[in-house]
Amino acid sequence: MSAQLSTVRPPAAGYVPPPIVGEGYPLTDLQRELLATAARLGREKFAPRAAQYDREATFPFENYDDLRAAGFLKICVPTRYGGLGADFPTYAMVAAEIGRHCGATALTWNMHVCSTLWSGLLADGLDMTTEQRAEHERHRALHFARIAGEGKIYAQPFSEGSAAAAGKAPFGTLAAKVEGGWLLNGKKIFASLSGAADYYGVLCTEDRPDRSVRDTLYMAVPADAPGFAITGDWDPLGMRGTVSRTLLLKDVFVPDDAQLMPRGVYYQAASRWPHMFSTLSPTYMGLAQGAYDFTIQYLRGEVPGTAPVKRRMYPTKQIAVAEMRIKLEQTRALFLRAAGEAKIDPSRDERLRCYAAHYTIMESANDIARLAIRTCGGQSMLKSLPLERIYRDSRCGSLMLPWTAELCLDRIGREALYEPGEADD
Ligand SMILES: Cc1cc2nc3c(=O)[nH]c(=O)nc-3n(C[C@H](O)[C@H](O)[C@H](O)COP(=O)(O)OP(=O)(O)OC[C@H]3O[C@@H](n4cnc5c(N)ncnc54)[C@H](O)[C@@H]3O)c2cc1C
Repeated sequence: MSAQLSTVRPPAAGYVPPPIVGEGYPLTDLQRELLATAARLGREKFAPRAAQYDREATFPFENYDDLRAAGFLKICVPTRYGGLGADFPTYAMVAAEIGRHCGATALTWNMHVCSTLWSGLLADGLDMTTEQRAEHERHRALHFARIAGEGKIYAQPFSEGSAAAAGKAPFGTLAAKVEGGWLLNGKKIFASLSGAADYYGVLCTEDRPDRSVRDTLYMAVPADAPGFAITGDWDPLGMRGTVSRTLLLKDVFVPDDAQLMPRGVYYQAASRWPHMFSTLSPTYMGLAQGAYDFTIQYLRGEVPGTAPVKRRMYPTKQIAVAEMRIKLEQTRALFLRAAGEAKIDPSRDERLRCYAAHYTIMESANDIARLAIRTCGGQSMLKSLPLERIYRDSRCGSLMLPWTAELCLDRIGREALYEPGEADD
């Protein structure tokens, strides 16, 4: 009797997707709180809305209202400017948590948050003259007040369809110095948050003779500035809710205080703070987790709205899930390690690991989504379920500059084989 009783199990509670960072990972109180909020918003609000934004290729305005209400638009605004003062790893983990529920929301939120991370925490560690520091404090106080006080949204257009976004040539968008400000002319492609942002953090080059990448400027252009226009359609494979259209700038005047970094400082940041370009990958870490979560729920017959058919008993499916789990753990381990190493002047190993983490996340996200569809089978890729959207969204990660998967490989190979300044005869 007692032996019989001991084999009786309590009814299964069903699969509960784990927190993005896993049990036992040391978190600060702020991280715990923000991750719990992100998980709740993601589960209750973003996931149910994601299919419509994807189908219509429209911007997730409602999600941004929720992000604003939760204080997430000012997550990386320093506390002395009214923000939440989150550091790089905190941002990365929260972005991943959002990404597992809605890729387009997490990716566009990245563009917005970068405008505060780069001009805030990152700029704090860079070398500036006393005058530059004072100028930067004045400018960013305005910029942070818009975000922390008024809930304004920033975009981050740097792509131009040239080698500039890869960091290999000066931006073709030019800023000419004029009385009281700057006159901007140029074109940006793939500008996420087109038509949704209040300000566009445009990367451009100071218009001067012999200009180079050292002359890069970072300017906040108001959406209603005369001469600023959004053009082109938006009907891509994935990340459809990002609404990444083309921007045209024709003699757009911005005042001096539009500069989000003093002259020369963006170049310094790009050279000394490599992790600043890895902020796109947390979104894809979240997508990888989302694909895995779906697979477990689906094979257990627990996906809401589908027949409760169990498919978990087939050994081939168990092996595929094991493969996915191993890939997920490898990816997450690198993700957390690299995020924790983000700082000015990282060692060469830390820099190479940052590229390796970015590459791994971007490639694994799509690979895990591919395995998920193959393993779950035909019904799992119906548009009524989130998996096929995750698959399409995850395809976009390794295409994104400045660190496409190809360019990560280029950097790792070159920087591993050559000491700084070394060349072949
Ligand atoms: C969903 C989505 C949202 C986006 N949002 C934004 C945004 O908000 N802001 C923004 O600025 N951009 C954004 N982008 C653009 C993105 O970062 C890239 O600029 C874009 O995908 C590049 O496409 P392309 O065809 O012009 O690539 P190309 O520049 O033609 O490059 C094609 C490939 O060639 C390789 N390559 C490119 N340049 C070099 C080089 N110099 N040396 C060696 N190899 C090279 C790369 O591997 C690259 O993948 C977004 C893209 C997507 C897909």
